[in-house]
Amino acid sequence: MPTYQQLNAESWWRAETVSPEMQEFGAQLCAALGAPKANFGCKGDNASGHMRGGHRSQAWILNSRYCTSRTYTVEANLPSANANDIPAFDITPKTRDQMIALSHNADRATRSGGLEELVVWYGTFDGKTVVGFDNIRNALATSDLSHTWHLHGQIARWLTRNRAAFQKILAALLGQPLPSGADVQADERNWLVNAYQGLFFGGPSMGAPVPAKINGQSTGNAIIDLLQHIRREVDTLKAQPSGAPSDAQMAALGDRLEQAVATAVDARVEAAIRRVLGGLDGATPQG
Ligand SMILES: [Zn+2]
Repeated sequence: MPTYQQLNAESWWRAETVSPEMQEFGAQLCAALGAPKANFGCKGDNASGHMRGGHRSQAWILNSRYCTSRTYTVEANLPSANANDIPAFDITPKTRDQMIALSHNADRATRSGGLEELVVWYGTFDGKTVVGFDNIRNALATSDLSHTWHLHGQIARWLTRNRAAFQKILAALLGQPLPSGADVQADERNWLVNAYQGLFFGGPSMGAPVPAKINGQSTGNAIIDLLQHIRREVDTLKAQPSGAPSDAQMAALGDRLEQAVATAVDARVEAAIRRVLGGLDGATPQG
C-alpha cells in the first residue's frame, strides 16, 4: 500500500478531480436523503482496493506506477476533458430503509436497459447481502460488505461532465420518473447516424480503407475491406504446409481485428447504440 507522500509525488494523483456536475449531483442526492454532504465521496483513499477502478481517474490508471490494473474500468477513446475526472461515487444514506430503496431503484433502472449512463452499482436489498449490477456486461455483480451501508455507483467516464446524465441518474436513484430528452444527446445521435451510414454505405467514417495494392477488391467500405483482408490472411495461414496456425499467429490476428473494430466503433457510438437497443439488452451476450 503506497503512502500519501508517494502518491502525491505523481502528477496524475494531484490532477484527479471531481467534476462540477458530479459535485452538484452529490449535493442534490445528500439533500434529498437529508444526509450531510460528507456522506458523499468520490476520490478513493490509498487502500489497495483503490489502486485501480472507478475511484481513480483514467489518467492515473494509465500512468501511475502504483496502479494494479491498466484495463479495469478504462474506456476507449476517452476525451482528454474527462481524463482526470473520477467517475465513481459512494453515498451513505441516513437510514437503512433509504439504502434499500436506493438499491431497488438502481436495480430497476439498470436492468430495464433505460439507464446505461450508470455503468455499475453495488448496494443491498436486506442490509445483509451485497447485490449489484454490471451494466456493461449485463451481469450480476457483487463486492465487499461495506456496501450494506453505502451504495457505490459509477457514471460512464465520458459522461463525467454531462449534467443531463447526472440528473437522470439522480432521478433514477430517487425512484422519480426519468427526465425526458436525456436519452440520446444530439452529438450521440450524429455519431449513430454516421456509424449507420458508414456500416451500410461505406465511407471515411469507418476509418482508412486498406490500400488498393493490398486489397485489390475494395468494396469502398473500410470495415468490410478490413474483414476481407483479415480473412485472406487466415486462409493464407491455414494453407501453410506446417499445418494449423500457431497460437501467436492467431493472437496477432485477433489483436488486429479488435484494433480495426475499435477504430471504427467509437465508445460513444457503442453507448448510443446500447441506449437505442434499450430493452433488447437482455439478449446481449455476456463477456
Ligand atoms: Zn465505491
